[in-house]
Amino acid sequence: MNPAPDSIMWHYDMMGTYSVRSGYHLGSVLASNPGTSGLNSLESWWKYFWRLKIPSKVKIFLWKACNNWIPSNKNLASRRVSIVNSCPVCFTWPESTLHALWCCHSLKMTRRMCPFMDKVKVSEGDRFIDFLISCRNLLSCEDLELLCIILWRVWYRRNSLVFKSATLLDKDIVPWAIAFLDEFRLANERVRGGLEGDRTNAIVWQPPCFGFYKVNVDAALPTSHGVVGIGIIVRDSQGQVLGASAQKIMARYPPHVAEAVGILKGIQFVRNVGLWPCVLESDALSVVNLVFGTF
Ligand SMILES: [Zn+2]
Repeated sequence: MNPAPDSIMWHYDMMGTYSVRSGYHLGSVLASNPGTSGLNSLESWWKYFWRLKIPSKVKIFLWKACNNWIPSNKNLASRRVSIVNSCPVCFTWPESTLHALWCCHSLKMTRRMCPFMDKVKVSEGDRFIDFLISCRNLLSCEDLELLCIILWRVWYRRNSLVFKSATLLDKDIVPWAIAFLDEFRLANERVRGGLEGDRTNAIVWQPPCFGFYKVNVDAALPTSHGVVGIGIIVRDSQGQVLGASAQKIMARYPPHVAEAVGILKGIQFVRNVGLWPCVLESDALSVVNLVFGTF
């Protein structure tokens, strides 16, 4: 018998430690064996997931969570970064990803306010990615999108408590997530309408080349109250919307400055969400010519 304590090992590497090289190798092997049932469900999950109509920052957060890359205490302890692995909110269970985002005792009201989750059976020891895949199999797309926002908000609540000693109430998480998602969907529709609407001189949107993203930006003229509206939308070569943002800036910019600020905001947006390489498109040709064409 080996007296060494149990530890998590990456069994795709001889040394038992994860490296980008071994991860890439595993990905290549899996990709070359499409008959593997695990891969099929995983591949199908990720395809489905990346097409959800939720902000990219939420997708990126959940992608990290699925890989246990969010710094919950159990994840940190497994990497020997921390010696404490218990939940900093309820103090009763190890803080796994699933515990932090869904199973924690402090989230009773959140779970109760999600009746669509009644059919999803979950237990503390489950992997977070398996939990999400079973949600995908049992929930409507809209409910899954709402769940994603809830999970993101739960992590924000946890961090607010741990790092700022701020208490966000359990009962406020679901209403906040519903309002956030409504606003995101509305902004997405507005931006899409603004970019693709029935303009007399409208130009048909052209998708970017395969492997590239395209960000369209548009700035509305300042209102009499001194507010400039900026719409940003990012799509892939299939025309799929991957991210959108509608921002208001308190300013009285001249039109060409507002368009230039819109371009800047568009670049910042794609950089922040990691949708790269990206082509930028704006209807303010003179401003685009001043800045650049493709980046
Ligand atoms: Zn807990």
